Amino acid sequence: MPAAPSSPNEAKRLAAVRRVRLMGTPAEERFDQITRLAKQLFDVPMAVLDIVGEELAWLKSVQGFDGIEGLRKDSYCHHTVLQDGICIVHDARTDERVCDSAFASTWVFYAGVPLHFDGERVGVLCIGDMKPRDFSSENLKTLTDLAQLAERELQVAALSESQLALALTNEELQKKANIDVLTRIWNRGAILEIIETELKRATDENLMALLMIDIDYFKRINDTYGHRAGDQALRIIAERLRKEVRPMDAIGRYGGEEFLVVLTDIDIDEAIIVGNRICEKISSAPISFEKHTLQVTCSIGCTISKKSDDIDSLIHRADQALYRAKKAGRNCVEVGNLK
Ligand code: GH3
Ligand code: MG
Ligand code: MG
Repeated sequence: MPAAPSSPNEAKRLAAVRRVRLMGTPAEERFDQITRLAKQLFDVPMAVLDIVGEELAWLKSVQGFDGIEGLRKDSYCHHTVLQDGICIVHDARTDERVCDSAFASTWVFYAGVPLHFDGERVGVLCIGDMKPRDFSSENLKTLTDLAQLAERELQVAALSESQLALALTNEELQKKANIDVLTRIWNRGAILEIIETELKRATDENLMALLMIDIDYFKRINDTYGHRAGDQALRIIAERLRKEVRPMDAIGRYGGEEFLVVLTDIDIDEAIIVGNRICEKISSAPISFEKHTLQVTCSIGCTISKKSDDIDSLIHRADQALYRAKKAGRNCVEVGNLK
């Protein structure tokens, strides 16, 4: 690949990338909605929304392939943030900008629109196909409209402060990982950090709730359909969790098939409602994997913060409640002892 040209305004652009505070943060439903729409409207196998940092592109929302980050120099989006308006690659194999990229033989077609924040091109909304295709002016209008929706979302700091505090700069991203690669949610270390912060912030009026979620008979899924089926179930369950909580709530992978959900400024009754809704949404639609349909349920332990809590006592209560939910027959929510 030819040496990637850089923009004369790169320092200003990178300052805006830092201010948007999305590098190293998990997938969010509000961006997934846009990439899902793009994939569907253009009938393509891939749609991505990424933030382009100094050396890495952070794949904030991805439809159609795995991965959470990529080297900027290998990504077609690098070219998109350097120019005004849309960047189209009709056939990557013969396009001199990208023909040497490792992706050129797979992602043959590409169309990307830059996303602005504070007047700078901080990221890209793009689609890709495995075969060359035309891109009409009507298509251009549609992708630009979707990009404007995404730009509006960039203006909204939807994540809670405790989550935004874990957003990384480009250099930190290379050293520190906070995201679980399989499910694109916070990993164990990050979600525990978020709980610590939220516990300190919680007051008598603004309580925080913790849901501990464990998939029922998950081992059977692996044993019956294989580990890849189990992985797919974990991905889909994380996606369903994202849809059932508010943008400022935090979701993390606590262990193998265990998740933690942190709900802020909430009372116990509302937290139970969220827990029941999650149980219902996970069990109500089967998960497709290859030619199989997997019926999955989960059990949930729910608790709310108390004045005397530290992270261990809070997690212990959620864990005890989860144990009781399993005992009670699974696919249900139990509440931790609140006295
Ligand atoms: P229960 O209803 O009591 O929770 O039963 P269970 O089968 O879900 O419980 P158990 O703890 O025995 O099984 C958890 C399984 O999760 C075992 C482990 O192999 C599997 N697992 C852990 N991490 C992963 C992963 O990343 N991918 C897949 N596919 N499986 C995983
Ligand atoms: Mg378990
Ligand atoms: Mg389990």
